[in-house]
Amino acid sequence: MAYVITEPCKGVKSTECVNVCPVNCIHPTPDEPDFPNVEQLYINPDECIECGACASVCPVNAIFHENDVPEQWREYIEINARYYRG
Ligand code: SF4
Repeated sequence: MAYVITEPCKGVKSTECVNVCPVNCIHPTPDEPDFPNVEQLYINPDECIECGACASVCPVNAIFHENDVPEQWREYIEINARYYRG
């Protein structure tokens, strides 16, 4: 199980989440080459420890525990995971 970044992140990529994640599982970070090319940030579901820190600081409330993702954004569970499959 993991937290998931959903639609409100698109075009925002505010990075507060990146700064608080204790296991650095949110990418791309601003210093990674992919950062300007992506629409949003993504959480690696294999590394997330479900601490919830990212959800608390997100200025656009884009981050939810996988069990609590609103119905209209359920596809983002797969979209986050896909980013890490390359
Ligand atoms: Fe990182 Fe915690 Fe958010 Fe998972 S829930 S992405 S470990 S800050």
